[in-house]
Amino acid sequence: MPTFRPDLESIPRYVPGRPIDEVARELGIESIDKLASNESPEPPFPAVIEAVASAASTLNRYPDSSCYDLTRAIGSHLGVPPDAVWVGAGSSEILRCTALSVGGPGTSAVYAKPSFVMYTISTVISGSEPLEVPLTAAFDHDLDAMLGTIRPDTTLVYVCNPNNPTGGIRSGVDVGAFIDAVPSTVTVIIDEAYAEYVTDASYASMVSLALERDNVLVARTFSKIYGLAGLRVGYGVGAPELLAKLRRTQAPFTVNAPAQAAGIEALRHQPEVEQRRVENAESRQHMTDELTDRGFEVAPSEANFVYFEPDIDASVLGDALLRQGVIVRVLGGGIRVTVGTRKENQRFLDAIDAVGAEHA
Ligand code: PMP
Repeated sequence: MPTFRPDLESIPRYVPGRPIDEVARELGIESIDKLASNESPEPPFPAVIEAVASAASTLNRYPDSSCYDLTRAIGSHLGVPPDAVWVGAGSSEILRCTALSVGGPGTSAVYAKPSFVMYTISTVISGSEPLEVPLTAAFDHDLDAMLGTIRPDTTLVYVCNPNNPTGGIRSGVDVGAFIDAVPSTVTVIIDEAYAEYVTDASYASMVSLALERDNVLVARTFSKIYGLAGLRVGYGVGAPELLAKLRRTQAPFTVNAPAQAAGIEALRHQPEVEQRRVENAESRQHMTDELTDRGFEVAPSEANFVYFEPDIDASVLGDALLRQGVIVRVLGGGIRVTVGTRKENQRFLDAIDAVGAEHA
């Protein structure tokens, strides 16, 4: 029997949203709608698909490990210098490398619960101790409690804003004050994976504040509003000295050439991004209203998903919706459903009604 690290079994498994084909095979249903992984319901912009196709012809070569052009494109999009940008294979890689670079045995990491499950996974993989702080009753990050949880051995704090799976935000003022109050020895990750969907005026990205501090990293992704989840490209923004340290744990060549080309092209389509933001906000409101009308208490969302905790067992409801051909995500006592196309959203609401009828 080979020897494994003793804590291997304690690393939680990431359970991905179930693939459409798998569910279709299992249930013998032809058409399945997947509203489980907070993906964009829209395909990538046509020019992005062309850029990917054209980059495919370079695949005999290793990609540019420094992501030179994409780093510059992101920098000019955000108005920050290129050396304040760190590209990774999805923001998951940025999160994991950060945890590996600041963590290790004898350290701890603070994050909210429920929040993005990768925080737990990265913390445990890095050998740090997870310190989980429940959301408030209103499903918000309890920033005061998080501050109070930071210990002398804490090296990392995550704030997921908007929060996955609940969708709520903390205001720019609150997050800024939180960052000010965190000891300077602690790295703060502000995970803004869903920032492009936010419409609430009190929200503020921490990108500019990150550049003024040496311990703040903002994580962003092309997986959501840009519709590139399948390509795996995301980035971190922070002080160049911080990034130089954090990227030591990143393997070379993790971001392939089509992904880099896609990111560059995607950033050129801000009017389409704006349109997606508006459409998502309309559909998000519609789903919130429709679920509220049906008696569910829906957490106010600024992201591309909504979250509610049904009276019945969430996994029973999730299974029943699956039998109706709609894949949602069951997380503890809650259901998270991604905002899809109008048709998909309607199918979800019809499925809720059909299930309601089933349970009546
Ligand atoms: N952060 C949050 C809060 C997320 O929900 C996700 C994706 N589910 C990510 C980061 C990672 O996305 P990716 O690795 O695709 O960039």
